[in-house]
Amino acid sequence: MPEIVLASRNTKKAIEIARLLEPLEISVLGLNQFPEVPEIVESGITFAENAAIKAGQTASIIGEWTIADDSGLIVDALDGEPGVYSARYAGEHATDADNNAKLLDALRGIPPEKRTAKFVCHLAVADPTGAIVISVEGSCRGLIIEDDRGIQGFGYDPLFLVPEFHRTFGQLSLLVKSQISHRARAFHQLVPQLKRAIREI
Ligand code: IMP
Repeated sequence: MPEIVLASRNTKKAIEIARLLEPLEISVLGLNQFPEVPEIVESGITFAENAAIKAGQTASIIGEWTIADDSGLIVDALDGEPGVYSARYAGEHATDADNNAKLLDALRGIPPEKRTAKFVCHLAVADPTGAIVISVEGSCRGLIIEDDRGIQGFGYDPLFLVPEFHRTFGQLSLLVKSQISHRARAFHQLVPQLKRAIREI
């Protein structure tokens, strides 16, 4: 079976990605098998740049096909914040709870109809030389509610309401999230392209 390395240390994100790659019959290796890969500095100012940095640098260190996901939350009333800084919104070593608390503080007093937001997921695939061969993006719109709901998923999931489902990502199963999320939409574009690339793997 062909193999691809996932350039992420976020285990919950990795679970979603492994599921979304299932149709490809490719074996997904984690970074834990490659201790030589250091923490990669996400110095880009767009999701596309950061996904390319993570996939490209990892692939060139280990010489393997590599996939990276850079994702985050764009909140309209906050001029796009936290955006590419979603993971470190409340500080460099912030937990999901810290980031969610900061987001609720920033939106205090903003009425429900103005709490619109979208999740964005950018995926990049690098070949073993580090060259980016696939780059795709998906997004999913919703509303930031005032109290967290649900315990599924990770990150801002408990605050992100999907109006069509009357539920937050934190209340939706992995099965449903894997069909409607920003990440699902990005994978929808990626899978046919990766199928073609796999013939070279
Ligand atoms: P990255 O690992 O540098 O791409 O940072 C992604 C950050 O964006 C995560 O730590 C979360 O805060 C947020 N994020 C991205 N995707 C999701 C999601 O599917 N649900 C909730 N939060 C997400």
